[in-house]
Amino acid sequence: MTRALFIPFDQLNRSFGALKNADPNKDHLVFVESQRMLTGRSWHKQRLQFLISSARHFAEELRTEGFNVSYLKSMTTIEGLSEYLKKNPKHELICATPNSFKMREALLGIGVTFVENDFFLTSEKLFKLWADDQKSYTMENFYRAQRRRLNILMSGDNPVGDQWNYDAENRLPPPKEHDWGKSLTFKFDEIDEQVSSELPDTTWGELDQKIWGTTRAEALKQMKHFFDNHFDQFGPYEDAMPKNSWTGHHSLLSPYLNNGLLHPKEVVKAALAKYESGSIPLSSCEGFIRQVIGWREYINGMYWYLGEDYRDSNGLAANRKLLPLFTDPSKTQMNCIKSVVSDVKSYGWTHHIPRLMVLSNLALLTGVKPQEFLDWMREVFIDAADWVMVPNVIGMATHADQGLLMTKPYASGGAYISKMGQFCKGCIYDPKKRTGDDACPYTTLYWDFLDRNLEHFKNNHRMFQQINGLERLSDLPATKERAKEVLEKLSGGQI
Ligand code: SF4
Repeated sequence: MTRALFIPFDQLNRSFGALKNADPNKDHLVFVESQRMLTGRSWHKQRLQFLISSARHFAEELRTEGFNVSYLKSMTTIEGLSEYLKKNPKHELICATPNSFKMREALLGIGVTFVENDFFLTSEKLFKLWADDQKSYTMENFYRAQRRRLNILMSGDNPVGDQWNYDAENRLPPPKEHDWGKSLTFKFDEIDEQVSSELPDTTWGELDQKIWGTTRAEALKQMKHFFDNHFDQFGPYEDAMPKNSWTGHHSLLSPYLNNGLLHPKEVVKAALAKYESGSIPLSSCEGFIRQVIGWREYINGMYWYLGEDYRDSNGLAANRKLLPLFTDPSKTQMNCIKSVVSDVKSYGWTHHIPRLMVLSNLALLTGVKPQEFLDWMREVFIDAADWVMVPNVIGMATHADQGLLMTKPYASGGAYISKMGQFCKGCIYDPKKRTGDDACPYTTLYWDFLDRNLEHFKNNHRMFQQINGLERLSDLPATKERAKEVLEKLSGGQI
């Protein structure tokens, strides 16, 4: 039997997955570009461009190496592969275990053989061993176990610097004056131009310039750019939301890690080498390492550990339709969300704090149906793999799993956004007010959310302070009255 290696668009790496031991003289390679992927939903232009162009570039590189590559276009991935098998009955289709439940099931259905998926640092089996042993699935505990297991930033059994994390130092708000540096842009080549010309009308967002590389060389350039220009200041400002920079000091590496152009091993290795050169504060290095070996691996592990039905959770019975402002920032006068959604529209990306404390916080407080919000997040973010978004939205963002992942909801009024962002100055709303026409919708809705969900939270000891605050709120009836009006207007795109 001839081996035909199927390469999904999130496994684009010559050294890992099915291609690890591939031989250009023996193995055939198969890529499938599915029409459903293009037109099935209102995907962000940048997202489709990045995923498809990266795959086409990668297929070309493999052809240059001497492989026999079939790059198929078909209605669905399964139709394309079935057609391939019909034409090549003596070929055995092989793939590294896919990164989503849906793809695993679909490929098994047509008899594809799976080989090890080594695109993460933690196998499903290893993660299960850890999770089975926990009373609660705290990321911090997982992260410390990873530091020990992988022997990263360790001195014997102790963390380097005698502290596991530098969160207290890494929560600086954006300074009034600060040089955030320039982000990289790349040149469109023939393949990029071709992909761009084929994007369907159903796409959302903008694609004026090439801000996301589509080759491994460009991904490596982005990685170097981060380590040379931003790494030293990443830690202190990782939660800051400046108004004059869409990137802050973030690495912008998640899309490349998620489609395979970069591997977490090489990113960690480069980070440690830079740190060891002596120019990087430990707080920045630790903050970055935590994202890669902690959060990223934890989220992936939990995606598989919690099972396929987890995505349907709706523990707070939130059933509001997606607010119009998420797809059209002109539908709101709230400075923060207008600015963040506009960034998402332009770049297909914003960092974890605007995602969590501006976008998701609003979805949580207004009671948007978690699955509607999940669909939107999947469509508009460049790095939104299924395994990333399901635990992030269902667990962290909307608390729809009733605390399985996070012991308390990430709900907050305008005070947090005001402290960590530069949006409130100049906004027609006042983050300190919860009643009146100029009350900040976040602040009003925060108290209304706690009150609406009191039954869920009253016995949660981590919510004691918040519930105590709610009980002492003298103007709760007026706040709830204002919340009613805010919710109606947000649903109508009028606030
Ligand atoms: Fe956002 Fe409220 Fe601040 Fe306006 S006042 S920018 S709505 S947090």
